[in-house]
Amino acid sequence: MSLSYVSTRGRSPLTDFAGTVINGIAPDGGLFAPSRWPGLDLAELTAGGADYATIATRLLTPFVGEALPEGALAAAARRVQDRFLHPDVVPLVELEPGLHVLELFHGPTAAFKDLAMQLVAGMAESLLAASGERLLLLTATSGDTGAAAGNAFAGANRIDLVVLHPLGRVSPMQRLQMTTTGASNVLNLAVRGDFDDCQRLVKALLGVQALKAGRRVSSVNSINWARLSGQAPYYAAAASRLAQPATYVVPTGNFGDAFAGWVARQCGLPIGALVAATNRNDALVRALNTGVYERTRAEPTASVSMDVQAPSNFERLLFEATGRDADLTRGLFEDFAKQGRVTLPDDVLAALRREVSAVSVSEDETVAEMRRTWAENGRVICPHTAVALHAARRVERTGPVVALSTAHPAKFPDSVEAALGFAPERPPQLQGLEGRTERFETVDATLDAVLAVPGQ
Ligand SMILES: *Cc1c(COP(=O)(O)O)cnc(C)c1O
Repeated sequence: MSLSYVSTRGRSPLTDFAGTVINGIAPDGGLFAPSRWPGLDLAELTAGGADYATIATRLLTPFVGEALPEGALAAAARRVQDRFLHPDVVPLVELEPGLHVLELFHGPTAAFKDLAMQLVAGMAESLLAASGERLLLLTATSGDTGAAAGNAFAGANRIDLVVLHPLGRVSPMQRLQMTTTGASNVLNLAVRGDFDDCQRLVKALLGVQALKAGRRVSSVNSINWARLSGQAPYYAAAASRLAQPATYVVPTGNFGDAFAGWVARQCGLPIGALVAATNRNDALVRALNTGVYERTRAEPTASVSMDVQAPSNFERLLFEATGRDADLTRGLFEDFAKQGRVTLPDDVLAALRREVSAVSVSEDETVAEMRRTWAENGRVICPHTAVALHAARRVERTGPVVALSTAHPAKFPDSVEAALGFAPERPPQLQGLEGRTERFETVDATLDAVLAVPGQ
C-alpha cells in the first residue's frame, strides 16, 4: 500500500510521492508529510552487505510506494552512488575515541546537497519520461544548492533549470561550479541584489503564467520532501557502522539535514539524540530555549550556507510536536509570516525539546575549532563542519557522537586560509574549473529584468 502525503497546514488534497517531487510546496502553503511513518529495521536495510544505493532504495521504498515507474528509485539511488568519488559514499571517520565525523562531501560538487539533489534529478527524469511532460525548475541559491542542482540537472531530458544567485556574493569556487556546467538546459542568473532578492524573484516567477507554456513550473528548494527524505539514508549508513545509537550533531540552516535524522529515528532506526548546531543565525536555538520563534535579519558568517533567518523545515518538526495538529500549525505559521514572531504553546515547546536540542556557535569558536581539529586531529575542515564539531565536542560522551561534515574545505579556501594560514588541497572534482567557459547573465533584481533574459 502506497503512503499518501498530507500538508502540515491541513488544507491540501492528499498526494503521492510523485506529487511531492514535482510540486515542492503543498497548495495551501504547507509542507508535505507522509500520512504515517513507516517502520524501518536497520538489519533489513543493510542485509547481505548492502551498499549505499541498496540501503537508500530499501529505506525509501515505503515512502515512494508505487508512485515512480518500476526501477526508477533503484536507478536514481545507483546514480547517486556512481557519482560519488568515495567507495563508502559517506565515510564515517573516527577522530578520537567516540567522536566521529560523517563525511557527506564526496559528491560531484563537494557538498552534502549532492546526495539528495542527484537522487531527485534521477527520479524527476523518470517521472517526466513516463508522463511526457516538461518541467521548468527555479531555484535561488547562496551557493551550494545552485551548484548541486546545476550538476544534477545538467543535460536532463525534459527539464530546464534556472538558478538565481546574488552577484558577487557567492565564493568564486561556487560561482565557477554553477556557471561552467556547459549544459544548454541550465541558465544561471547573477542578480544585482542579495539572496533574499533571489528568493523573492523565484516566488514571483512561480506565479508568471507565461513561463508555464506547455510545462510545469516548480522549485527545488530545501522543503522538497523528496530532497529531504533522500537524506535519511546516510543516517542509516552511519548507524550500521556503529555498535550503539549515536548522538548526531548537525550543522543547520534550513533544518532539512537534521529533520532527515529525525525521520530516520521516527521510523525506528537506532539514532540517538539529535543536536542542531547553528552559527549566530540562531532562530531555532532561541525558539527551543525561550519558546519564542522570531525572525531576525540574516547575518553573514563563515558558514554561509547556514545563514538562514527562518529555517523552513522547522514547520515539519512543529507539526509533529503539536501531535500533527494542522490547524494549530497553520495558525502559528500564518502569524509568523505576518508578524515575524510567534510564542509557542508550553506543551508544544516541551514536545519539541524532547525531539531535538540546538546550540549556537560563534564565529570565534568556529575558527578555533578549525584550528583545533587541524592541530589535534590533523584534519582540515570547512566552517560548516567546524560549527557541528565544536558543538559535538561539548556533548557528554555516554555513547558515540557523530558530527556531520557537509562540505569539503576546498569549497571555502578563504576561510580555511584565514584560520590555518594555508589553502586547502582541492579534490579532483574541484580542479580545473578556472579553465572552463563561464555562462551566466547579469540582471537587475526586478521581475521584468529576469523575464527579459532569453532562453528560459
Ligand atoms: C545547506 C548546507 C547546510 C545546511 O543544511 P540544512 O539542511 O539547510 O540545515 C550546512 N552545510 C552546508 C555546507 C550546506 O550546503
